[in-house]
Amino acid sequence: MKTRQGFVSNSSSTSFSVFGIHASSKEIDSLLDSVLGPVKTTRDPGCECNINRDESKFCPECGKQTWITTTEERDDLCEYAREIETKLGLEVITWNGGENCSEGTYIGKSLERWPKEISTIEKLKILTTTNDKLIKLFPDKQADFYNDGGYDG
Ligand SMILES: [Zn+2]
Repeated sequence: MKTRQGFVSNSSSTSFSVFGIHASSKEIDSLLDSVLGPVKTTRDPGCECNINRDESKFCPECGKQTWITTTEERDDLCEYAREIETKLGLEVITWNGGENCSEGTYIGKSLERWPKEISTIEKLKILTTTNDKLIKLFPDKQADFYNDGGYDG
């Protein structure tokens, strides 16, 4: 068994415990697409010539691109954590060796933020609801318990 030293027990940023799934950045993207709608893509004329822009990729008069496509980029996932929590009732937990909003992203329920008065049965009900939601969103994944980046697994 692994022993841990120097952990401050009441600091949520130095340890973590989650029930949920570990999501890849691709999965996060498609989750954000379904929560926020797809990223916006805009198309602007590449030059000022008076031509039919849908006939070719490049302008026959000046040689510039007929259309310039710009795809909006999303901010860091942390910017949307609250929206995911509100709309899906799932928590976004990002943890990378104590650093928040970094590589390790989990979707589910943090096991460190239970209200004090909640009973074990109520906790199990919440975890069941969380699991049901995750099955719908990620049918090919299975929720599990993760601790401190999964090392204790
Ligand atoms: Zn042109």
